[in-house]
Amino acid sequence: MADGPTTNYRGPLVSEPRQLLARVRDVMARGGENQAQYDQITKIIATYMVAEVCSIYIRRANDRLELYSSQGLIPSAVHNTYLQIGEGIVGDIAAAGRPFALADAQAHPNFAYKPETGEELYSSLMGVPILRGGRVIGVLDVQNRTKRDYSDEEVETLQTVAMVLAELIAGGTSNENNPMAVLDEQSTKPLRIEGILLSDGLGMGRAHLHSPRVNIEKMVADDPLTEHLRLTKAFQEMHGALDEMLADAAVAESGEHKDVLETYRLIAEDAGWVKRIEEAIRTGLSAEAAVQKVQNSIRARMGQTADPYLRERVHDFDDLAHRLMTHLMGENGAPHAAVMPGEAILIARSMGPAQLLDYDATKLKGLVLEEGSPTSHVAIVARAMGIPVIGRAQDILSRVNEGDQIIVDANHGQVLVRPGVTAQTAFDESVHALEKQKERYAALVDKSAITKDGHPVELSINAGLMIDLGHLKSSGAAGVGLYRTEIPFMVRSKFPGVDEQTRLYRQVLDNVDGKPVVFRTLDIGGDKILPYWEVEAEDNPSMGWRAIRVALDRPALLRRQVRAMTRAAAGRDLHIMFPMVAEVPEFVAARALVDKELAREKERGSALPRSVRVGVMLEVPSLAFQLTALCPFVDFISVGSNDLFQFLFACDRGNPRLADRYDLLSPIVLRFLKSIVDACDAAQVPVSLCGEMAGRPLEAMALVALGFRRLSMAGISLGPVKELLLGLELAPVSAVIAAQLDAPVHSLRPAIAEIAKSQGLVP
Ligand code: PEP
Ligand code: MG
Repeated sequence: MADGPTTNYRGPLVSEPRQLLARVRDVMARGGENQAQYDQITKIIATYMVAEVCSIYIRRANDRLELYSSQGLIPSAVHNTYLQIGEGIVGDIAAAGRPFALADAQAHPNFAYKPETGEELYSSLMGVPILRGGRVIGVLDVQNRTKRDYSDEEVETLQTVAMVLAELIAGGTSNENNPMAVLDEQSTKPLRIEGILLSDGLGMGRAHLHSPRVNIEKMVADDPLTEHLRLTKAFQEMHGALDEMLADAAVAESGEHKDVLETYRLIAEDAGWVKRIEEAIRTGLSAEAAVQKVQNSIRARMGQTADPYLRERVHDFDDLAHRLMTHLMGENGAPHAAVMPGEAILIARSMGPAQLLDYDATKLKGLVLEEGSPTSHVAIVARAMGIPVIGRAQDILSRVNEGDQIIVDANHGQVLVRPGVTAQTAFDESVHALEKQKERYAALVDKSAITKDGHPVELSINAGLMIDLGHLKSSGAAGVGLYRTEIPFMVRSKFPGVDEQTRLYRQVLDNVDGKPVVFRTLDIGGDKILPYWEVEAEDNPSMGWRAIRVALDRPALLRRQVRAMTRAAAGRDLHIMFPMVAEVPEFVAARALVDKELAREKERGSALPRSVRVGVMLEVPSLAFQLTALCPFVDFISVGSNDLFQFLFACDRGNPRLADRYDLLSPIVLRFLKSIVDACDAAQVPVSLCGEMAGRPLEAMALVALGFRRLSMAGISLGPVKELLLGLELAPVSAVIAAQLDAPVHSLRPAIAEIAKSQGLVP
C-alpha cells in the first residue's frame, strides 16, 4: 500500500538539530528588539521543520497563554489571541507539561478553534511545553497543512529548541523586553495559597527551594566533545560522592536512609539515562542543558503516572539530575548555591524521604509541596520529625522566590507567602503560645499520668520510623503501643529480607531503654502501598486484600517477619500484634504460625525471646461480637479506632468530605467501645486503644471515662493528653457519658467539652 505523498515526512532538521540550535542562538546573541527576535526564531524553526506555521505562546497572568509570535498564522492574531491553560491542544500541552504530536489535530476532541488565527487551514500539529525551572512558561508549536506524522526525533528537536527559547523568554530585563514581566510582578505581592494538611503545626521562615531554579548560562555548545568530557567527569564525581555518603558511618547505621541512597547509586548508573544525556549533547546542547532536557522529558513522561513506583523513581531522577548539575556547574553556579537560611521553609514539587533527612532538621520550620498525599513517605517522615507540612499547594514553586518570608499554617491548610505585618504578628503570638505549651509538657515528662481523682493511665506512643523513637524519651511514654512495621517497608525500594528486618527490629529494641514495643505485623494493602509489591487494583482496597488477609494467604511473608522479630528480641520481651483480624479463626491461624516459627528457631538452637505475647488489633467491627470467644486466645487487645469506625459508620477515613459527618464522641461509638472494655475487663485481657482518637484530649477523656487505662498515640499528642488527665476529675465525665449512652443525638461532644471547660482543662 502506497503512503500518501506527505505522510511520514522526515524533515531535514532531524539530522541537523545542531544547525537549528546554532541559528536560534545567533538570533538570541545578536539582541535587538525583542519581538523581532521572536519573529525571526519562529521563521527559522518553521523553515527547518518544513512546517507552514510555527508559533510561540507565552504564559501570562491568570493562567492565560498569549500568542506571542507566529510564522504562518494571521499576523493580527499575535498578541490578540489567548487560550486558558487546558483550553485547546496548546492549552493541553501547557496543562500536561508534555509534548503532543497530532496528524489530525482538528479531529482531536479538545481542538479549540480560534477564527482570528486562520488555523483552520492546518491539519497537523506538534507542540512542546516551554519549561523553565520545571514550570511551563509557554508552548512552542508547528503546524502543517497536510496530515503529517511527526517523528519522535522531531519532537525531541522541538523540545531542545524550546529549552533554548525558555532562556530568551525569562531573560529580558525591562518590562517591555520581558514577556515574563507580568508574572514577575505578581511574585512580590502577598499571597495565600491553599493546600492540604500533611503534618500539623505552624512554622515561619524564609523560602528555600529544594531544587532551585537553575540558570544555565550556556544552553548551546560549540564542541560536543568538550561537553561529553565534562559530563563524564561530572558523572565520576557524582558516583564518588554517592559512594562516600554510603560509606558515611551515620548513614550506614540508619536503615531508612541507607536503603534509599543505595537505590540512587544504582539508578545513577542507569545506562538509558546516561545515553539520553549523551544524545542530547550530540544535538548541540551544553552538558547542563542536556541534563535538564532529559529531566524535563522524564518528568513529562513519568510524572503523571498513577503508578506509585514510577512516581517515586521520578523523584529519584530529579534528585540525581540535581546532584549531577551540581558537579557540572562547580561551586559557583551550583544549583544548591543558595545556602539554607537559619529558619527555612522548604519548597518542593515533591521529594523522597531521604532527601528530607538530608536537611538540617534544626533549621527546618516547615515544608510545602506541590504534590504529596498524607500517606506519601515524605509526609510520614516529616510528621515523625515534627515538621509542619502542606501538600498540593498549587504552583507554589512559580509563585515563591528563594528567601521570601513564608508562614506554613498546616492546621488550616494554608501557606502565607510574603505575609503582611498583621499576619506575622498573629503568627508570633500563636508560636509564643505553642512554645509555652511545649515547656509545660516538658515539665511533665517524669510524671505518671494519673487523673486528679486517682485513676492511673498508661500512655504509649505509636511509631514506624527510628525517628519516632525520639518521642519516647522526650514525652516520658511507657513504651511503643503500636509499631507499624509496614512504614519501614514503605520507605524502602525493595522487600527487606529476614536479616535486614532482624537488624531493623533489633535497632528498635536497642533504642527503647527496655520499654515494651508492640510490633504490629505488616498491614499492607489499603492506602499502604509498597512500591515494589505488585497487586491487582481493587475497587475497595481498604476492605480488600490487606493486612492479616495477605499474611494468611502468603504465610511465608508472616513467618519471615516473625522470624526476624524473634531473632531481634532474643533474651528480651517480644510483643506481636495482628492487624485487621475479622474472626477468631484468623487469629488462631496467625498465632499458630508464630508458634511454628518459635518451635523452628528453638530446634535450630537460636536464642529465643524471654517472653512472647501475641495480641490482636480490634479494628474490624465483626471481631467485637466474638470477644468472649476471642479472649482466651489472646494476650492483649488494642483497639484500632481509625479503621474500626470507618467500618462501623461505612465512612472512608481518608475522604475529606466525610471527615466531619460522624463524630467519635457519638453515643454509638462510646457504647460500642464500652462493650469492648467491659468484655476485656471481664476476661482480664489487657486492652488499649491506639487509633488517632487516643491523642485528642476530649476523646482521651471520654476513653478513660469508659474504662480504658492504656492509650497509645502519636508522640506529639502525649504531652497535651497527659496534661489534661493530670487535671481531670473523672467521675463527672463518667456520669455524663453513662447517662447519655442511649441519647438520640449526633454527639456527646458538647456535654464533654462543657465538663472539660468547667474543670479548666480547655479554654
Ligand atoms: C487504626 O486503624 O486505628 C490503626 C491504629 O491502624 P492504622 O492507622 O495503621 O490503620
Ligand atoms: Mg488500622
